[in-house]
Amino acid sequence: MSRFDVAAQKLNLDDGLYQFLRYPRREVTVYIPVFMDTGRLQVFTGYRVQHNISRGPSKGGIRFAPDVTLDEVKALAAWMTWKCAVVNIPFGGAKGGVICDPEHMSSGELERLTRRYTAELYDFLGPEKDVPAPDINTNEQIMAWVMDTYSMHARQTVTGVITGKPVELGGSAGRREATGRGLVFVICEACGKFKLAPADTQVVVQGFGNVGSTTASLLHEEGFKVVAVSDVRGGIHNLEGLDIPRVSDYYRRNRTLDGFPGADQVTNQELLELPCDILVPAATENQITSKNANNLKARILAEGANGPTTAKADLILEEKGIFVIPDILANAGGVTVSYFEWVQDRQGYFWKESVVNERLGDYMTSGFQEVVRYSEAHKVNMRTAAYMLAIDRVARGTRLRGIYA
Ligand code: NAD
Repeated sequence: MSRFDVAAQKLNLDDGLYQFLRYPRREVTVYIPVFMDTGRLQVFTGYRVQHNISRGPSKGGIRFAPDVTLDEVKALAAWMTWKCAVVNIPFGGAKGGVICDPEHMSSGELERLTRRYTAELYDFLGPEKDVPAPDINTNEQIMAWVMDTYSMHARQTVTGVITGKPVELGGSAGRREATGRGLVFVICEACGKFKLAPADTQVVVQGFGNVGSTTASLLHEEGFKVVAVSDVRGGIHNLEGLDIPRVSDYYRRNRTLDGFPGADQVTNQELLELPCDILVPAATENQITSKNANNLKARILAEGANGPTTAKADLILEEKGIFVIPDILANAGGVTVSYFEWVQDRQGYFWKESVVNERLGDYMTSGFQEVVRYSEAHKVNMRTAAYMLAIDRVARGTRLRGIYA
């Protein structure tokens, strides 16, 4: 919200519109009764927050986690509004969550929880209303259960009610790699801007999950020198560049990067401070803080994770002249291909992966170029520019519709 406030001030947003955009449109709390495998009945608390629908139906993931709070879901819903607006896809923002501990639940318990949560929210969801997606601890199978439950109530198959589905059920080709691929598009644009040739560009990637490993692999394919990667236990480093296909193979077999031949071990803290041209935090939030921002040596920070940099660290990065590709732009590839999935479901016509990837490239590169233009025109950093562009788009849509009149 502090970033929203900075951008809103720079835009001179009037007070009424400021308040309209600061608060969500709707917060729904549901209490979900589930028979556990033991026969005991347990009631779980679930949320769905719809932040804004000025530009289209709301969109955002559903997370299952013990520490879900309504405040967090509200913040993430607003974040989705800005993310969709920055890459100019016709969605507002939403987010959902259920307080539960999926690690200690059986597949049957998770299915019953998912189905009841969906049934309780039936009136608020729909391809034209609010379209959820996977988030922490929710996957393609859970999306399939949501789609099926919604369809049972609608009495017809409605694939467009949710994205991140299995491809057999209306999912999109290329969705799994979309966030990493989107990151690579904006990184390549940034390299063009700074005249960095891939072969001479050293990249460090934190996190080797979906986003981090896809980004590392695609950058390696593009000829970049990926010199370090890590997972939650630590990382590996080789100044000459890692052979990423071999690293991925090793990681698949051993479930750890430890002991990868021909590389030095580094901790996650050391990894962030390694000399490199591009640093890609693609693990989790709050990794770059006022404590370590001064030690970063990268020229470009491409935020794959959501919220990897704290607001205090932003100021230090700006002083150091590090070019930041902010999360709401850099990792918007996932939601962009979710948008393509929704379009394909509504068309009933599915695109080849090459078409998905090409269109993803169009959205990501124009998003990047527009944020750069905004940043130069308003003399603000890339993060503030991304928020200003997004808020401006949503505010304009709101004014045009007359909700605000
Ligand atoms: P993931 O669970 O597949 O991978 C996370 C990786 O980060 C793992 O390698 C894990 O070991 C590592 N990690 C976790 N905690 C860490 C820590 N404290 N220090 C270092 N490494 C740590 O998750 P993902 O889908 O790749 O998502 C990564 C980030 O990207 C998250 O912030 C997520 O919100 C964001 N994101 C993901 C998508 C998507 O489509 N998957 C889209 C937008 C944003």
